[in-house]
Amino acid sequence: MHISIIGSGYVGLVTGACFAELGNIVTCADNDTKKISELKRGAIPIYEPGLKELIFANTRKKRLKFTTDIGGAVKSAEIIFLAVGTPALENGDADLTGIEHVARNIAINMNSYKVIVEKSTVPVETGKWVKHTIETYHKRGIKFDVASNPEFLKEGRAINDFMHPDRIVIGVESKKARDTLVNLYKPLNAPIVVTDIKSAELIKHASNSFLATKISFINALARICDKVGADITEVAMGMGLDKRIGRAFLNAGIGYGGSCFPKDLDAFITISEKLGYNFELLKAVRDINETQKDFFLEKIKEKLWILKDKTIGILGLSFKPDTDDIRNAPSIAIIEALKAEGAKIKAYDPCCMAKINKEVRKGLKFCKDAYEACRGSDCLLIVTEWDEFKELDFAKVKKLLKRPLIIDGRNVYDPQVMKKSGFNYIGIGRGKHE
Ligand code: NAD
Repeated sequence: MHISIIGSGYVGLVTGACFAELGNIVTCADNDTKKISELKRGAIPIYEPGLKELIFANTRKKRLKFTTDIGGAVKSAEIIFLAVGTPALENGDADLTGIEHVARNIAINMNSYKVIVEKSTVPVETGKWVKHTIETYHKRGIKFDVASNPEFLKEGRAINDFMHPDRIVIGVESKKARDTLVNLYKPLNAPIVVTDIKSAELIKHASNSFLATKISFINALARICDKVGADITEVAMGMGLDKRIGRAFLNAGIGYGGSCFPKDLDAFITISEKLGYNFELLKAVRDINETQKDFFLEKIKEKLWILKDKTIGILGLSFKPDTDDIRNAPSIAIIEALKAEGAKIKAYDPCCMAKINKEVRKGLKFCKDAYEACRGSDCLLIVTEWDEFKELDFAKVKKLLKRPLIIDGRNVYDPQVMKKSGFNYIGIGRGKHE
C-alpha cells in the first residue's frame, strides 16, 4: 500500500520504517527541513536500536523516502498517518495545533479517497475534530475516513514493539477503513481490537495512565519499605507473581518521565475535567511521581548533608535506557536541584549528552565514561539503568570515588553484594539492607 506518515519523530520514523519493511511504499514527511535533509543524507536524528539499519535497507529498496512536501505526501498516499507531536500546554491540555494544521493540509491536498489515521496520542474526541476540520476545508467532495490507531511502542524497544505488538487497536467508523487497516496490519499476526474512534482514543490514555499508576503505587510503597526496613524488590516480586497483578511496571525508582506518561496523564486529567469528571486518582499518581524526585534528593542530603562544593557523579541522563530522549527526564530536575544547592556535577550517559540544552549544561561536566564521573566524586548517583552500568568494575569505582557512597535511583544493584564490596549503598525502598 502507499502510506504517508506526517511527523517523522520517534513514532513516525519507526512506523514508516516498519511499514516499509513489511513491503509498503512509505513517505515520511515533516515540516522540520533540517530533520528531513539529515534523513535524506542518511543521518538518523534519533537513537533507536535497529532503526538506522531498517531505514537504510528500505531507502535502498526505494520503499521509504523523506520529504518536506506535505501536500505531495497527502496526494501520493492511500493511508495517511498523523504522527506529529502533541505536547502538553501550560494548563495540561494536549497541544493539538500540529494535528489541526496537518488536518487542514490534508483537506486542501486530498485528491482521492484516503484513510486518515491518528497515530499520535490525542484526547478523546480529537477524531471528531479532525473529521470536522477536513470536511470544513475540503471543497471537492472526495470521500475520506478518519480512524484512530494509537501507538504503544516503547522507546529503546520500538522496532520490536511495532513488529510484535501485544495488540493493535483500530478505531473506525466504516467497513472500508476497517478493512484497509486490518489488511495493513495482517502481516504482524497480532490480536487486533477493532472499536469506535472514541474508544480507541481512550484505550491509549487509559493504558498509559494505568501504567503510570502502577509506577506511582510501587514508588509510594517504596517509601513505606524504607520507613519500616523492608525491601521493595521482594514486595514487588511477591505481588507480581499474582497473575492478576503482574510484575511489570512494579520497579521502584525516581519516577516516570519521558515524552508520554507525564503529558498523557496531564491531558487525561484535563479532558476528564472538561467532561465533568474530577480524576482524583490520576492526580494522586501525578503528585507521587513529582515528589519521588524530592524523596531521592532527600536521600542524597541525608548522606552528604551540605551539598555546596560537593562533587556528585551522575550515571544516566536519558529518561530510560536505550534511548537518547531526554524529554521530561527525571535527570534534568535532579541536576537543577543539585545545582541550586551548589553541588558540582560530573555526568555520563552513553547516548544523550549532546541533547542536553545550554541552560542545563551550565555548571555540568560531561564525562567520557562512567569511571570519569566517579573520579573524585563524593557520591555516585544512578539515574538511568543503562546495561553498561550493571557491569562496572566496582573495585575501580571504589578507588575513584572520594568516598564509597552510591545512591541508586533505579535499584540496579544487589545491596548485599554492594555492602560486601565496601560500599555505602542506598537504594529506593531497600531499607531492609541499610
Ligand atoms: P517527536 O517530537 O519525536 O516527533 C514529532 C514530529 O512531528 C517532529 O519531527 C515534528 O517536526 C513533526 N511535526 C510537528 N508538527 C508538524 C506539522 N504541522 N507538519 C509536519 N510535521 C510536524 O514526537 P514522537 O515522540 O514521535 O511522538 C509523536 C506522537 O506519538 C505524540 O502524540 C506522542 O505522544 C505519541 N507517542 C509517542 C511515543 C514515544 O515513545 N515517543 C509512543 C507512543 C505514542
